[in-house]
Amino acid sequence: MEIFQTIQDYGHEQVVICSDKTSGLKAYIGIHNTTLGPALGGTRMWNYATDEEALIDVLRLSRGMTYKAAVAGLNLGGGKAVIVGNPHTDKNEALFRAFGRYIQSLHGRYITAEDVGTSVADMEWIKIETDYVTGVQSQGGSGDPSPVTAFGVYHGMKACAKYTYGSDSLSGRTIAMQGAGNVARYLAAHLVKEGAKVIVSDIYTEKANKLADELGCTVVEPDKIMSIDCDIFSPNALGSIINEQTIPELKCAIVAGGANNQMKNEVSDGYLLKQRGINYAPDYVINAGGLMNVASEVVGYNQKAVLTSAEGIYGIVMNILTLANDQNIIPSEASNKIAEERIAKIGKIHNVYNSIPTIRGN
Ligand code: NAD
Repeated sequence: MEIFQTIQDYGHEQVVICSDKTSGLKAYIGIHNTTLGPALGGTRMWNYATDEEALIDVLRLSRGMTYKAAVAGLNLGGGKAVIVGNPHTDKNEALFRAFGRYIQSLHGRYITAEDVGTSVADMEWIKIETDYVTGVQSQGGSGDPSPVTAFGVYHGMKACAKYTYGSDSLSGRTIAMQGAGNVARYLAAHLVKEGAKVIVSDIYTEKANKLADELGCTVVEPDKIMSIDCDIFSPNALGSIINEQTIPELKCAIVAGGANNQMKNEVSDGYLLKQRGINYAPDYVINAGGLMNVASEVVGYNQKAVLTSAEGIYGIVMNILTLANDQNIIPSEASNKIAEERIAKIGKIHNVYNSIPTIRGN
């Protein structure tokens, strides 16, 4: 692999290689773009087959964070870190503290948080060595992001309903929910409260049954949820479930849910959905409540302000669907455009400052 060429192709400002022989730490920190502010994004720990695979993952994930923060209106850039190792067997205090020292050495250009394979306890170890960590349990921590994520998804879903049906009321609408985990539980509660009919499924049937008992939902088998006749299909489980095999099965007018990376191929699957006349709320936009929650920790956690921001996902989704329609593009292309335009505009302000001639003393 041409490392520098690959990094340039992804458009990164900086990639930090963290290696500590004593603790066995092997990690990459990817800082994609800091035009809007410090790069915030979680640390993933994964048993990557090769160093190259880990590098590509950090590049891909950190670039995604730039777009997510920009569209969400946050004053943050995009960053992410990956630690190479088995999250079940390779974790120890020394490793996370060594990693924390690398983060500290960046003096706030990168701020970390939890991600797949890392936990609150790991963040507490990192925090011993650096202030640039969020998602901690200690005082000032933002706690579980799922309620805020779900609140944002709920408002994004209402925007989709308004765009599709002319009314944002979900009362009487049928919503097929894939997954009965953290986000789904809070989301289903908002939906049922508004009078929607929620059908839920989970590979762990007891989780789906529990949710159904609590809220009065219907349960179906996991392999049925994507072909159910409904108004909204809401993915709240794993990624890549919207693909060329499943799109023909969908019997909904809207896809809107909290799961990350819902499309197997963002562009071609996006166009397949468009051909079928299904409105899609881009995943990284509608699930940005979790990022808003953790971002608030950077300036001093304020739950009321966070919920107001998450409610704003309604307007963001509405703009994206409108722009996509006006320009005959897919919603994810529209949201990428909005992100790139915001970054370009703010980047120009920076350039204006940079271009002010220095006043010379003589
Ligand atoms: P979770 O693990 O609590 O819930 C996911 C649920 O999906 C689990 O109950 C699991 O059994 C179920 N599931 C897995 N495969 C399934 C399948 N094929 N069919 C039906 N159910 C299946 O996770 P979560 O925190 O609720 O997150 C859900 C999704 O939202 C993930 O993609 C996550 O990356 C994304 N997300 C979460 C947050 C957050 O704040 N928690 C923020 C942004 C994005």
